[in-house]
Amino acid sequence: MQITNVKCPSGKYGLKCPYEMVAEEIAVHNTANDASAMSEVSYMLGNNSSTSFHVAVDDYRVVTGIPFNRNAFHAGDGRNGRGNRKAISIEICYSKSGDERFNEAEDLAASYIAMLLKERNWGVDKVKKHQDYSKKYCPHRTLDLGWERFLNKIRRHLDYQAIPVQDNNNEGGSLEMAKKYVNGSTPEPVFADTGLSKKIGALDPRETAEYLSIDNDRPLVRYKVNGTNTYKCGYVRWKGGCK
Ligand SMILES: [Zn+2]
Repeated sequence: MQITNVKCPSGKYGLKCPYEMVAEEIAVHNTANDASAMSEVSYMLGNNSSTSFHVAVDDYRVVTGIPFNRNAFHAGDGRNGRGNRKAISIEICYSKSGDERFNEAEDLAASYIAMLLKERNWGVDKVKKHQDYSKKYCPHRTLDLGWERFLNKIRRHLDYQAIPVQDNNNEGGSLEMAKKYVNGSTPEPVFADTGLSKKIGALDPRETAEYLSIDNDRPLVRYKVNGTNTYKCGYVRWKGGCK
């Protein structure tokens, strides 16, 4: 991941990021523009508007503009709003046209956000949309495509290897949304990604599991690691097992 740090000139702190900040969450935006991350940051730091943001991400690079220990004005919730005073703001580029570049920018943003969450020991519940702070429909294209889908991209980066959940027999466990998945007569490989490029395990013939959702036409299954109460999640090719 290529991260380029562009320094906000200290003479512009009063305009762009006047307050010290201890971040408590992450705010996701779409630029509604077709400019690169470096262009977005250069333009933001160069103009005389108070509007600002911490990071822009395009299809190959993460560019920071405002340090994370300063606030930025991105959320439209006022000078003392939670978004403007407590959130690290991430702009995802190329959302105007929304072509392949946008998909790649979203993927890179998901991976970068997962890194920020891990560094801070935060869960995905710390990831907010601009819309959560004010009425603006932003991140517009990410919302059009599905917010939960974007959070799932982050979750995949966070930890797909072993997601411990409460025992299935324990009432009040977290499995009530799950539906049944029954494997066929051959072993079914389980992958970290819907592109089925990274194998992380396999279901035995006739093994029963749960499936949580279908993303990009691939069932996301949660299955027990042999002889333990630990579960793993991953994607399988075969949809016939979804019951
Ligand atoms: Zn926004």
